[in-house]
Amino acid sequence: MKVFNTLTRRKEELIPLKAGEYRIYACGPTVYNFIHIGNARPICVFDVLRRYLEYRGGKVIFVQNFTDIDDKIINRANQENSDYKTVSETYIAEYKKDAAGLNVRPATVHPKATENIDEIISIISTLIEKGYAYEVQGDVYFSPAKFNAYGKLSHQPLEDLMSGARINIGELKREPMDFALWKASKPGEPYWESPWGQGRPGWHIECSAMSRRYLGETIDIHCGGQDLIFPHHENEIAQSECCNGVPFARYWMHNGFITVDNEKMSKSKGNFFTVRDVAEQYGYAPIRLLMISCQYRSPINYSYDSLMQCKASLERLKTCRDSLAFSAKNAQAHTALDRLAALQTAFEEYRARFCVAMDDDLNTADAIGTLFDLVRYINKEVLTGEPEIEAIAAATAIFDELNDVLGLLYEEAPAADTADEDAKIDALVNERAEARKAKNWARADEIRKQLGDMGIVIEDTPQGAKWKRV
Ligand SMILES: [Zn+2]
Repeated sequence: MKVFNTLTRRKEELIPLKAGEYRIYACGPTVYNFIHIGNARPICVFDVLRRYLEYRGGKVIFVQNFTDIDDKIINRANQENSDYKTVSETYIAEYKKDAAGLNVRPATVHPKATENIDEIISIISTLIEKGYAYEVQGDVYFSPAKFNAYGKLSHQPLEDLMSGARINIGELKREPMDFALWKASKPGEPYWESPWGQGRPGWHIECSAMSRRYLGETIDIHCGGQDLIFPHHENEIAQSECCNGVPFARYWMHNGFITVDNEKMSKSKGNFFTVRDVAEQYGYAPIRLLMISCQYRSPINYSYDSLMQCKASLERLKTCRDSLAFSAKNAQAHTALDRLAALQTAFEEYRARFCVAMDDDLNTADAIGTLFDLVRYINKEVLTGEPEIEAIAAATAIFDELNDVLGLLYEEAPAADTADEDAKIDALVNERAEARKAKNWARADEIRKQLGDMGIVIEDTPQGAKWKRV
């Protein structure tokens, strides 16, 4: 398989350090809110990368972190009169619902920044000892000027990268490009003890720490959105390579941007969509298909029309798969051996075309095209005429095989657990009202008790029964 390596700006043969084993680190979300449509892309794309490497017989160790301490999380906690832990745990749970909804497999490990403070402190200490970082009044900063290779991922010289850098009021760093590894805590903020006093880690350092702890000093693939190349990934490289003295990641894969109705997505423009909101209206599966419908480095435009096209495409897949299942139940005829051989040859060609596309820098657009060509072929060659046992079994096997790599057709989990539960409660409340109308008091009481066991109380009002959770 070849992948485009941002570091070398070339498509390169993907060769892991240890044969057959891929160590992958993906930067995960800062958990202070629901994820938005732009966040869905790397999640879906790199899930497909992982599935494909596994499909080709590789072992994948996939690490995706949660940034669970950050200014945004602290601000949110303050707004809600809550604490950082409650906010981060809430949105980790919501993230997991969305990821499962999008048919994204859980990472091998989902480490959290706050559970890796010792590793973070150890790396910062080494960076200070080696002269790459310095402490000022409880803050610790890294000096990119001390690392000759700084800028190698974004392919820009330090002077160009420096042009946008500033020292804000209250910041104690020496040079504008310096970035914080450790921040002294302000009064009332969460903190951890460190050799530099009470404080918390900066954002970039956590990925260097968690990547080393779970995957080792040199990893195979580091991935994320293009917006992370600078400064986040550039800083990760600087920290890790200055600390460990060996290359950090051998391949860097970055997905392209998402626009909404051909504009950059932003809250102020009002074109900001969370995955949850879209999923509740249209389901998760069309979002997943849209996210992988283009080669991952190309930009994607999110629009109502593009989502509807994906929904229609999924219907075609579902119709074919359902027809195969239905025919399998009814099939009694056997497939002639020469016909079965011809079908197998055709299926083998689809499989080969699929792999050629995926081997070419994860060209999911062509791979999906191949799956739809296969569906047309199955509709024409297998699902017409009298159903045959072996032909249907072979067609189902190749369909499931290719579909599973892309993860397109799947049983969708409900968008939210509570939506399901609410529907169930409404149904019981209605049934109780009917029972009362019919003067079936025993049944009405039974339902009240059942709801009580679920933590629901009912209040009878002139407008009907109201319920609430207690
Ligand atoms: Zn990161």
